[in-house]
Amino acid sequence: ALCVSQDFDFFYFVQQWPGSYCDTKQSCCYPATGKPASDFSIHGLWPNYNDGSYPSNCDPNSPLDSSEISDLTSRMQRSWPSLSCPSSDGLKFWSHEWQKHGTCSESVLDQHGYFQSTLNLQNKANLLQILRNAGIQPNGGFYSLDSIKDALTQGIGYTPGIECNVDKSGNSQLYQIYLCVDTSASNFIQCPILPSSRCSSRIEFPSF
Ligand code: 5GP
Ligand code: 5GP
Ligand code: 5GP
Repeated sequence: ALCVSQDFDFFYFVQQWPGSYCDTKQSCCYPATGKPASDFSIHGLWPNYNDGSYPSNCDPNSPLDSSEISDLTSRMQRSWPSLSCPSSDGLKFWSHEWQKHGTCSESVLDQHGYFQSTLNLQNKANLLQILRNAGIQPNGGFYSLDSIKDALTQGIGYTPGIECNVDKSGNSQLYQIYLCVDTSASNFIQCPILPSSRCSSRIEFPSF
């Protein structure tokens, strides 16, 4: 009988706050299409193991073929922009994400399925709206890490992982939000293990 092996336990669906990518010492570059929306954008969908370790670069013979995802490109430019320097149209970032992470879930999702599922996940939970509804705004203010976690847990139904980085003045700030997703890449689940957060107890939510 045909048996499809599944070589990972769950996905991390990771979104980044662009303001916190850009205001660091390293700075950032906007794509040629202009400044991205002032909203969380996708970093990636990462196969993971329940013990916190993860597979990577699982298939060197499967580079991203942009013709496979041409129908998704305009959505990806909006929802999955690359902010690294030099300025890029995203294809380099998406290719990196596919090679490093996407190739490790090829047993369940081909290239088109991987990117389509990731885009669809973003529409299932409006992180910025959930935070705004709790009075947590991207205005350069400081908020307790617990208030951010609590708001997102209430709004999504599952506890997120929160990752911080530091701005130019050394302030701890909200950088990435991790949600856990089942192996079909369609439903949020309780995280089997949360990523380490590197956050202070009060963190900045910078504007973008
Ligand atoms: P950093 O060192 O900036 O936290 O992470 C660098 C890269 O390692 C990430 O962009 C991602 O590709 C990978 N990575 C970091 N943490 C995790 C994790 O917990 N799970 C998975 N699957 N990848 C991770
Ligand atoms: P990871 O390996 O951690 O999944 O992805 C990070 C890699 O993607 C780095 O090499 C980084 O330079 C590149 N990259 C390109 N654009 C972006 C972006 O907008 N955000 C992040 N976090 N990484 C980006
Ligand atoms: P990577 O190994 O993925 O190139 O980069 C490691 C980390 O450095 C990423 O997780 C990301 O946070 C940061 N990084 C990489 N390139 C850039 C960049 O152009 N600007 C900023 N602000 N951070 C970057």
